[in-house]
This record gives sequence, C-alpha cells and structure tokens, in this order.
Amino acid sequence: MNYNKKTIYDVDVKGKKVLLRCDFNVPQNKETGEITSNKRIVAALPTIRYLLDNGAAVIACSHLGKPKGEWKTKLTLAPVAKRLSELLGQEVIFASDIIGEDAQAKAAALQPGQIMLLENLRFDIREEKNGADFAKALADMADLFVSDAFGTVHRAHASTAGVAAYLPAYSGLLVDKELSIMGKALDDPKRPFVAVLGGAKVSDKIAVINNLLEKADTIIIGGGMAYTFLKAQGMGIGKSLLEEDRLDYALEMIRKAADRGVNFLLPVDHLCAAEFSADAEPVLVEGDIPENLMGMDIGPKTAALYAEAVKGAGTIVWNGPMGVFEFDAFAGGTKAMAKALAESGAVTIVGGGDSASAVEKLGFADQVTHISTGGGASLEFLEGKELPGVACLLDR
Ligand code: AMP
Repeated sequence: MNYNKKTIYDVDVKGKKVLLRCDFNVPQNKETGEITSNKRIVAALPTIRYLLDNGAAVIACSHLGKPKGEWKTKLTLAPVAKRLSELLGQEVIFASDIIGEDAQAKAAALQPGQIMLLENLRFDIREEKNGADFAKALADMADLFVSDAFGTVHRAHASTAGVAAYLPAYSGLLVDKELSIMGKALDDPKRPFVAVLGGAKVSDKIAVINNLLEKADTIIIGGGMAYTFLKAQGMGIGKSLLEEDRLDYALEMIRKAADRGVNFLLPVDHLCAAEFSADAEPVLVEGDIPENLMGMDIGPKTAALYAEAVKGAGTIVWNGPMGVFEFDAFAGGTKAMAKALAESGAVTIVGGGDSASAVEKLGFADQVTHISTGGGASLEFLEGKELPGVACLLDR
C-alpha cells in the first residue's frame, strides 16, 4: 500500500471549490443533542483555515451517528455548523440537504474564502453504499476533493472514496499526518520496532499480529487476549477471557515469532479478581491462575518487564489496553505502559479507540508522538490492509 499521497500543499486551491470530507462525528448529549466535545471540530480547523486562507471555497461534509439512510432530526449537522462557525470566527453556511436543491444552490453561489456544510451524509443510504450517482452529485458541486476524515478511510463510501472517481483527490493535514507517521512506522520504522498489543480479544487483532510479526522486532501482548496465548502454552488461566477456537492460532503465532526471531512477550504475573467488577478485590498471581479467579490486568513484574522492553525502542506502536483500565483497581498496567511509552524517547504511536482514550484519561496524551484519530481505520492500517479512502488519493 502506498502511503505517499498528494496533500493540499501539492495543489493550487485558489479560486477552486473544494469538497472537504471531515470527521464531524462528534459526541452529543443523548437528551439535549448538545455537542459534548469540540475535539474533532478543532482538529479539522488547520485544513479548513489553510484552504480558506488560500482562496478556496470549502464545501465541508461529514456523517454523524448511524442514521442508516433515514432523515433523523436528532442527527442533523446544524449544531456542528454553529460550533464550527464559532471556532472559525466566520459564518458557516448550512445546507438543509446533501445533494439537493439547497446544497446545489448554496455551493454554486459559494465564494472564495467562504465555507458551507452539507447535511449529514448518512441521511442518504447511497453514502454508505457508495452509490455512483450520489458520489457524482457530490463531486459535481466541486473542483477538488480533500479527504481529512481518517476515521472513515477504511470505508469505501461515496464521500470517502467514491467521489475520487470524479475529482482529483488530495489528503488534508489530518490524514496526511496519520499517513506519514503510521506509514513510516510500518514501511521503514526506526528500529528496534516494538508493537504493544492489548484489548479484549485475540480474534479482533489476528490480522494485526500477523502483519506486525513480519515487521516488528518485539511484540508485547497484554489485556484479555493474553490469556488465550497463555492457555495455549499450557498455563492455568482460571476464569480469564479465553477464545477456545483461537488456541491453535495463538500457538502458531508464538511459533512464527520464534521462527522469525521476534521477541514475543506474554505476562508473567497478573492482577486477578473473583468477579468482573470495579470493586472486586485485586489478587496478585504469579504463574497459574487459580480456577476461581480471572486475570484483569498485568501484574507489576510484567509491567516492569514491558517497560524494560520498550526502553531502547526506536518506534513503538500501541493498540489495546493492558487490562480493564475502566476500573481504577485494574488500570495500573495500562498506566505503566503509557508512562513507559512517554519516557521511551521512541517515535510513539497510539492506535485509536480504547488505547487512545486510556492514554488521554491517564494524562499522557501530550507525551506521545501521535494518537491516531481512527479506531477501526488505524487497526486496518496496522493490518496492512488497503484502505479505500487512502488508495483513492493521488500518489505523490
Ligand atoms: P479492544 O477494544 O479490543 O481494544 O478492547 C478494549 C477492552 O478490553 C477494554 O474495554 C478493556 O476493559 C478490555 N480488557 C482489557 N483487559 C482485559 C481483561 N484482562 N479481561 C477482560 N477485559 C479486558
């Protein structure tokens, strides 16, 4: 997969209408609809400002939630237009439809330096189905396409990939940052390259482990998925998370690591609990986990071992927490890992989703090189899969 894509710096945008795919899928208060975090809107500002300052007219678009082709008033992007306008300090013209009369008229009248926002793309079922007529209608309003919603680049939707059949396609600054940092880590990492993988299930990370076994020097396993690997090696794991149908795969991965000379690290001690609950009494176990207990977090010896393993790393990629970090008593392992990453001096990349929220919640966000904004997208990136929303951009 080629990650070296043309960006907005590679094209003269002056006097052009730019269809800009943003990620304005903001969290909202379920009752009032109020936007509870500005983060994604703020993240989009640099690309928007660059385009406006350089004489483009911007037709921004995004999805919000999962309306699945239905017009759901609760999921209108109108509040986003208002918030974007406040943050940008200029008017954001809001279209009451997506490719309908209102959008088309407003797009046609849009002047350089002006910005408009289309209504929620997923109100039209053709967005997620990548309908060619829908993509073409979106494209017809503009001269260029800029992709800046990394969270959806793993989807072949009309606004993420389809429009590129009709418009020259460039990456925005957010997507470019993801591609250049993560792309480099996968293609030409500064070594040693250490991958830290955690989270609940082996089955979710199979393709990631497989791909990284070909690239990394060390793979560190934590979280619920560690127990399937331990069980595969004959350890007692008590009531810990287990995927019986992945035991063979786990053994195969351990063998593959040995064959390739990849260091494959598994927990050597565990913080366990008798039940899965926030106020369960933590019990430290080394070796086999008794029948009545389940592993909830890596233990202190493991945390020290893992911290040591990332110390001299050149590049570290982390995806998935080391334990049930949502419960304070079992957040220690994830916290220790975050701290080790922060102190490593390596290029540190945190995959989206739970590991990103863990790093943020634990206060290490500003001490890592890059926190990916895409959960599913960054996972598929690490799997080495072709991402339709990236593949469709012009090569450099
Ligand atoms: P994932 O989405 O696969 O990255 O998994 C994240 C989830 O894994 C979090 O909600 C954690 O609470 C959960 N998790 C991590 N370690 C364990 C564990 N030892 N037992 C059960 N769940 C875990």
